[in-house]
Amino acid sequence: MDSKSLDLCAGILQNGSYIALARQNQAQKTALLVRLLSERRMPQQGWTDEQVRSVLAMFASMDSNNHGSTRPGSGSGSGGGGSGGGVGVGEREGRVWSAMVAERHSFLAHGVGRSGDIVAVQPKAPGSSLIQRLTHFMAADALRVAGASKTLVASAIVLPMATGMSALLVFLTLRTMRPAARFIVWPRIDQKSCLKSICTAGFTPIVVEQCLRGDEIVTDLEAVEAAIGAHGADAILCVFSTTSCFAPRTPDDVVGLAALCKRTGVPHVVNNAYGVQSERIMSSLNAAVEGGRGRIDALVQSTDKNFMVPVGGCVVAGPDKALVAAVSKLYPGRASMSPILDLFITLLSMGADTFRQLLAERKANYEYLRQRLAAWAETRGARLLETPANDISLAVALPDGVAAHATQLGSMLFHRFVSGARVVKGENKEVCGIRFDGYGSHVSKYPCCYLNAAAAIGMRRAEVDVFIDRLDRTWTEFNAVIAKRERGAAAE
Ligand SMILES: *Cc1c(COP(=O)(O)O)cnc(C)c1O
Repeated sequence: MDSKSLDLCAGILQNGSYIALARQNQAQKTALLVRLLSERRMPQQGWTDEQVRSVLAMFASMDSNNHGSTRPGSGSGSGGGGSGGGVGVGEREGRVWSAMVAERHSFLAHGVGRSGDIVAVQPKAPGSSLIQRLTHFMAADALRVAGASKTLVASAIVLPMATGMSALLVFLTLRTMRPAARFIVWPRIDQKSCLKSICTAGFTPIVVEQCLRGDEIVTDLEAVEAAIGAHGADAILCVFSTTSCFAPRTPDDVVGLAALCKRTGVPHVVNNAYGVQSERIMSSLNAAVEGGRGRIDALVQSTDKNFMVPVGGCVVAGPDKALVAAVSKLYPGRASMSPILDLFITLLSMGADTFRQLLAERKANYEYLRQRLAAWAETRGARLLETPANDISLAVALPDGVAAHATQLGSMLFHRFVSGARVVKGENKEVCGIRFDGYGSHVSKYPCCYLNAAAAIGMRRAEVDVFIDRLDRTWTEFNAVIAKRERGAAAE
């Protein structure tokens, strides 16, 4: 409320002192907003829901769908067209039938962008456009809070599609610059959306097998170099490396790959799906581009996996503002505002301090999970695999004999409300028309069957305790089931 209205309020109540606190509250909100608009960063301290709501309402009131005066009989009041209000004679006027839907979107109905550029200001929706731009600034800031250098993240955009689709859009952007390229060199990771993003974009993946170093699965730099040499740099669109992954695979050697890409003149796209939450991964990405040592063109990272929002968005960032801008220009048409709005609300209400704290808690939870899993494994004839280079996911090698019943163990865990734990036994499989040996385990022959668990952002320490407890009980039951089955088989 503006100062004049507050004066009038004081007049109605005939008492200025009652209004003083309201005035203070108002001044505080104005200060927060001015700070957001001028600094364009995540607030240090998270805002209250009431503060976020009032800023959303203010931005929404700037959009044309909310310019109408009251409309008798309308569901939501969103859509304009009343006498004295806006008149819409276009085919897309932000009309929303259901009040529930209008509310679900905080009365923002125009989406973002224009047909030629997803970050272009939408004339009917300056409020939505502002939210989008502020979200891009805050996303870049959040990546820096998580450890990214200014060199690594010169700018960022949030696309309203998950990681695989966003990687696809990055590939198509690079294609405009490298029309002769047909291949994408891809250090193997057994995650289908990665491979599909390559194939659906119309490129042929050159799968580079990883190598084993102790228990760890690591990048085979020489094999990547040989793959580039075999096809010629011009025929290659990019190297598509992956940081965050299930152990015993470890984050790709982005420093080595970035240097190789720089030397050979091949672009480098990094799938950093949930790597933002690992300081270790962010530092290695910084090191990869520091002092112009190596080449990274773009990073793609999931909004839900890193920032605790519903699935649906991706942050595309990188050292070259022009490339990030080119990705936004390639996007055909307008786009959904929802994933952007979710991130906007979340970054405001979380604040940089709490984000840092969540990252620190995650790191501590990983360490706790590691210790508890190691101790559990020791007493049950299993062994925690030594994978220190992966500081998100862990793997426990299961005793011989479990492999034959791997699916059963996985399903028993799932039915005991343990989600996310995977029992992995590589199998021969075809994905996107490519044959993989040992699919699921990231290499053609991993020596054992294992169980995965991860410590991701937002996990609570108590969940580790519950997990170990359920794992142990499931393990006992599982062994009893197998023993019974084997006795049955022997009797026949
Ligand atoms: C989650 C994930 C993806 C992409 O998944 P989307 O569903 O497209 O967000 C790709 N690669 C890895 C390593 C992932 O973890």
